[in-house]
Amino acid sequence: MTVTEPLQYIGGARRSGSGAPLTILAPATGAEIATGAGANAADVETAVAAAQDAFPGWAAHTPGARSDLMHEWARVLRSRAAEFAALESRNAGKPIRLTTEFDVPGTIDNTAFFAGAARHLEGKASAEYSGDHTSSIRREPLGVIGSIAPWNYPLQMAAWKILPAVAAGNTVVLKPSELTPLTSLLFAETADAAGLPPGVVNVLTGTGADAGQHLVEHPAVAMVSFTGSTAVGRQVAATAAGAVKRVHLELGGKAPFVVFDDADLEAAARGAVAGALINAGQDCTAATRAYVQRPLFEEFVGRVAALMDRVRLGPVDDPETDMGSLISRSHRDKVAAMVERARESGAKIVRGGRIPEHVPESGAFYEPTLITGAAQDSEIVQQEIFGPVLVVLPFDTDDEALALANDTPYGLAASAWSRDVFRTQRASREIRAGCVWINDHIPIVSEMPHGGYKSSGFGKDMSAYAFEEYTNIKHVMSDITGAARKLWHEVVFRAE
Ligand code: NDP
Repeated sequence: MTVTEPLQYIGGARRSGSGAPLTILAPATGAEIATGAGANAADVETAVAAAQDAFPGWAAHTPGARSDLMHEWARVLRSRAAEFAALESRNAGKPIRLTTEFDVPGTIDNTAFFAGAARHLEGKASAEYSGDHTSSIRREPLGVIGSIAPWNYPLQMAAWKILPAVAAGNTVVLKPSELTPLTSLLFAETADAAGLPPGVVNVLTGTGADAGQHLVEHPAVAMVSFTGSTAVGRQVAATAAGAVKRVHLELGGKAPFVVFDDADLEAAARGAVAGALINAGQDCTAATRAYVQRPLFEEFVGRVAALMDRVRLGPVDDPETDMGSLISRSHRDKVAAMVERARESGAKIVRGGRIPEHVPESGAFYEPTLITGAAQDSEIVQQEIFGPVLVVLPFDTDDEALALANDTPYGLAASAWSRDVFRTQRASREIRAGCVWINDHIPIVSEMPHGGYKSSGFGKDMSAYAFEEYTNIKHVMSDITGAARKLWHEVVFRAE
């Protein structure tokens, strides 16, 4: 059943937008979930004004008071976990097992982590570095943060953007993807239910053109935090540069998965299937390019193919379903077209490469796909696919493997598989990516940062490092001599 609902959350209340109508779909069935008016420039004005009004009061809360409210927020989320999991599954086409065991617990853990971290903003020790002054560091919130998020992990992306910002004393206007706003709206509602003041967390549902661009341009937005594609990230950075605004960019990825000849082959094959197919491959850190040392190559491909055959596609509310739908039929067609071009250029499609038959035609499913025989410089190896597609290529030497792993414009994540500590140490040192897993691929923890190198962007989500993004560091230098005449003045003038 489609419900018409206000799709904006501003100043502690749900509101209707003033922009064009939007229809929110369930990607796995094509059914309409909700309709409502999208946000436009006028709504951006209202939301930024609400965040501006809330800022001084929120920034004046002690860290302990902010922490208490965020702990309460985590408690509210825990009590509504099943509701979040069902809504995220429906709106993003994810299997209910994934949202129940990954998206929602991850978000709750993040909230609890930042509740604690709010009391641990760090800086250099105050001291008399000059001898004549006491120097100290203040770490101050920036003001209103404009956050823009993609559709692949709507709830987790909302959490990654909002939590460090508000823990540090900022207020936020988040624009989720207009395809998947429902759990972001609920996340904002739970913030207020937990007692965070109205206007600290605001959500605008609208398109990039109608709402995102205005949010980035808005003069009262002190910083823009963007997660999305490298192409849009580039535009966002260019717009923000015009106003000399701080930007945080978490962009695309093309993670290599390097299997050396002494690796545990079964562990690597299982890791590759899980790493490539999580969230139907719509994961910026998904394993997309497996480089396998030649003696293991055939065996690895065989094991991965056999495991892919066992992955169950089906209704997303069925706990037996392993892999859900892609986000939309148009995105599914983009993935299919990339696989087709790989086939035409001579690559072998070992598994998948098709739209499955036994799932709803109105959904956006695509079979787990395994490809060999692609050239390193081909599109399927170089460009982000964002679908359930793993390409496997052979290598001969360690030098070659590390060079191939680094040979794309991206640098978000990577993994290396070996029982030899010197090999894995070298891989972790030489692969240029924000995260290198050793003998695993995908796990994340709230305490550790997530962020890219190269065209995957800059800045860190999660962990205490995220405070670097959402705070200004101020040096306060206080004279302790009380003297009118100071020695250093003599470098400028010597009046008696
Ligand atoms: P897009 O870059 O297309 O969109 C991201 C967000 O930006 C959406 O909310 C979009 O709105 C908005 N947007 C579009 N144009 C503008 C604009 N001119 N100004 C401001 N905002 C704008 O990415 P997708 O939503 O397609 O998400 C997939 C991408 O996200 C992949 O490349 C993936 O790698 C990346 N990603 C990166 C992660 C990381 O941590 N590095 C994590 C997760 C995903 P609208 O949808 O309405 O156009």
